Amino acid sequence: SNNIDRKGLIDSEKRSASRSILDFNVNPNTLNYDLQYVRLEFDLDPTQQFVSGTMTSHFKMLANSANIYFELAKNLTVSTVKYHGQNLTFEHLTSDEIKINFPAALTAQTTDSLSITYSGVPDSTGAFASFEADTTDDGDPVLATLSEPYGAKGWWPTKQSMNDKIEKMDIKVTTPAEYTVGSNGKLMSETILGNGKKLTYWQTNYPIPAYLFALGISNYTKINSTITTTGSSFPFLNYVYPGFDTPSTRASLAWTATSMQTFEDHFGLYPYRNEKYGHMQFNWGGGMEHATMTSMVNFGQGLIAHELAHQWFGDKLTCGAWNDIWLNEGFATFGEHVTYEKLLMSPSQFQNYLAGQISDITSDPGGSVYVPDSGLSNINRVFDGRLTYAKGAFVLRMIKWKLGDDQFYAMLKAYQNNPAFAYGYVKTPDFRNFLS
Ligand SMILES: [Zn+2]
Repeated sequence: SNNIDRKGLIDSEKRSASRSILDFNVNPNTLNYDLQYVRLEFDLDPTQQFVSGTMTSHFKMLANSANIYFELAKNLTVSTVKYHGQNLTFEHLTSDEIKINFPAALTAQTTDSLSITYSGVPDSTGAFASFEADTTDDGDPVLATLSEPYGAKGWWPTKQSMNDKIEKMDIKVTTPAEYTVGSNGKLMSETILGNGKKLTYWQTNYPIPAYLFALGISNYTKINSTITTTGSSFPFLNYVYPGFDTPSTRASLAWTATSMQTFEDHFGLYPYRNEKYGHMQFNWGGGMEHATMTSMVNFGQGLIAHELAHQWFGDKLTCGAWNDIWLNEGFATFGEHVTYEKLLMSPSQFQNYLAGQISDITSDPGGSVYVPDSGLSNINRVFDGRLTYAKGAFVLRMIKWKLGDDQFYAMLKAYQNNPAFAYGYVKTPDFRNFLS
């Protein structure tokens, strides 16, 4: 279908937001360190709403300090915090923070590490859970996560601030042997352990923010191939519910390679070509652009295009505050436009599509693509389909109209490659100054 399930899409991206959107974009308690490496070792069963894991972090201290804070929901239980083989004392605060005490103050600019072991039942109340063990329409177990924007702490200890990507992650998940585990980065190994269990190991060497790390665990059918674009090849891994392995799904997945080439032509090289691209199916409405492995409810072409465009806009360049979410969503919606114009629609169909968007955007007076602080408490404002998505894309259309296509797409490529933004964060003034 060319018709994206806009409502479902928006629903998915805002799903985990309502509980905690009032949190700060930056937690001041986590400003004294730079999170550099995370190893996550999970023991999970998709038939159980239960998480058990150890998070090992390597971090660089940015100030002399005898304490470090990680964010973790208070309803989970920390059993130990290990530091060079010894147990550290800690407090698990009602603010969903673990305050950890070092034996002596660590020195600024030194790198150190610790491990947090924890377990519990992640919150699944209402529609706003970030970790859900569920079943598919065929009755098969599926465990999926969706952390955007503040749900990561609901199932693993991390720093959620929008100023510190994790440079490298090792993700090791033990499950009953019959399940397949999807996640970020490169698939390093799948090892049958002999006790009815399997260990799946993913590794990513691209910086990602906490909210873009995810898991999908089910009895997936693997539809794997290779995408070759602009003189390079990388794996294309699709983890699909068995009942969705149809000719139509396979045709849509094959089309992903076509849209990948079109985006490379207009945005620059695919940002994660040393690792992979792929999809893992989940039950949330719409899709979520987890870096290198998008979570998808189904495989409509508009949804594939939107989430793929996010790999450039949202994932490689991430909004530096939730006020700037249009830099993710407006650009990804513009990515849909590119595939509609170049691949999926006739010129008159595309003009009709744009006219429909204009009529939606102008159906209410006013409204800024930038979310004012006063709007952050209102989920429907942050992920407003009319402003954040549709009007955000039309801000780009306006710039394209001013610059002309050649200069506009050259600008987008330069924006992607700007070392101040690439694999980091960008805010609206950064984009405005870059344009100027
Ligand atoms: Zn989106």
